[in-house]
Amino acid sequence: MELCPVSNNNGFLLFFCFVIPRLIGCVDCILCRCIQEDIEFVLIYNCLMADVVGPRMYSCCNCRNQIALHDDVISKSFQGRNGRAFLFSHAMNIMVGPKEDRQLMTGLHTVADVYCCDCREVLGWKYGRAYEETQKYKEGKFILEKSKIVKENW
Ligand SMILES: [Zn+2]
Repeated sequence: MELCPVSNNNGFLLFFCFVIPRLIGCVDCILCRCIQEDIEFVLIYNCLMADVVGPRMYSCCNCRNQIALHDDVISKSFQGRNGRAFLFSHAMNIMVGPKEDRQLMTGLHTVADVYCCDCREVLGWKYGRAYEETQKYKEGKFILEKSKIVKENW
């Protein structure tokens, strides 16, 4: 069975195609072959579904407060205090603690701990300044510990 490349990354289109195939003019479509021809439609549809189902999120492991969007993940191969951690471009519903200089594996950085604004769980940290040129891309970004966040809407 061949999967439509457009829909491989999200189950929404497959779902859509199975449930209401006529709406997209799809008569004999199995696993939405037809949608490959209509990228624009796909984009619009993804936006609609994001409103219905909600985007894929990460939430606080303690209180399920929504913390970050899956789309904002920059890297999943960071090291947190307690194991693996993800780097995000944005985070929400958090509080940022006082800045401090911290010696991390990749050199000296100014960082601030990040807390869940509801339950005050420490979730990771925000990068302020990176002293080394190669680490500058992290400035203003967020580390969230994998063990402190849970998937929502996946
Ligand atoms: Zn929380």
